Amino acid sequence: MNPKNIYRNPDLAKRITRKIQDITPKDKTIKICHVCGTHEWTITHYGIRSLLPKNIDVIAGPGCPVCIVPASEIDEAVELATRGVTITCFGDVLRVPGSKLSLLNAKAKGADVRIVYSVNDALKMAKKEPKKEFAFFAVGFETTAPSSAVEISQTPPDNLCFLISHRVIPPAMDLLAKIEDLSLDAFIAPGHVSTIIGLRPYEVFPQKYGLPTVVAGFEPLDVLFAIYMILKQLCENKPRLENEYTRAVHRDGNPKARKLISQVFEVKDGKWRGLGTIPSSKLTLKRQYTTFDAKQKYDIEVGEGIDNQPGCKCHLVVIGKIKPDECPLFMKTCTPHHPVGACMVSREGTCSVWAKTIVNTP
Ligand code: SF4
Repeated sequence: MNPKNIYRNPDLAKRITRKIQDITPKDKTIKICHVCGTHEWTITHYGIRSLLPKNIDVIAGPGCPVCIVPASEIDEAVELATRGVTITCFGDVLRVPGSKLSLLNAKAKGADVRIVYSVNDALKMAKKEPKKEFAFFAVGFETTAPSSAVEISQTPPDNLCFLISHRVIPPAMDLLAKIEDLSLDAFIAPGHVSTIIGLRPYEVFPQKYGLPTVVAGFEPLDVLFAIYMILKQLCENKPRLENEYTRAVHRDGNPKARKLISQVFEVKDGKWRGLGTIPSSKLTLKRQYTTFDAKQKYDIEVGEGIDNQPGCKCHLVVIGKIKPDECPLFMKTCTPHHPVGACMVSREGTCSVWAKTIVNTP
């Protein structure tokens, strides 16, 4: 793809691309992993892979917060909905498959499932309809966890509780770094999450695993420049943590947001769809806030859940082991209009990004 016209500064894009070409070692494949749905969108939409030398492989890790919600947690939301609780959730959670039903299926069967744009919308609904019971399905990484924490810490009304499905990113990166046959060479760390958590949680990757790690923003130039910074580290053989996104990410992140998260939540082992249980990766409500826990309030117990539909390769796409078009269902039985797997549901899901950009589905 020609960078002309689609980049904010096409000349700069060309110069960085040339520098990347110049310093890329020619004798091996270099695998760079990002863990952010928005990065995948930027990389795919702006054709960044096509600007890179053939031996640079940019892969997408588990950066879509909706794709990694395990079926068991969708089942819990469906169970709550079928018991008459009004479920409020972000729109892209609606079609994520549970073991048997998605929330959209439950809604079609008569359950009250409502799309909201923020937890605050759920709060307003609960206050407006005090005789109804509401639950907010809180999905997302460190970026959305603070808004859940704010409402929970301010004592929401009795008729609003929370089904918490928040996850934290660094433990998932740790898992990827340990997968031997993934053979990662570097990480592009997520910009949005880093505005909250800052830089420190990533120090482990260069220090323990020798993986250059660069926090990047979301403009195509940000991503290109982050790739150049990574290649420079690899050439110098000095892996370190660098911040390309200095206009938004500070070393300590957002201390207020971090404080709120640790006030309301504690970190426990958590299941990720397709990845199994990742140690210290799930936010759960601290003891003093368990009265707002939907699972406890309604005594919800579901089974293990079935994450993968037959033939679905989401468990491989989500760790970058395969690209979406290597799944036999891609754009055949699995499309954005009729998603089979979770990676095709959210606009941050890798398969959905590929379908909408590369295959040009509306
Ligand atoms: Fe899963 Fe569909 Fe992607 Fe295949 S194409 S990996 S079924 S989301």
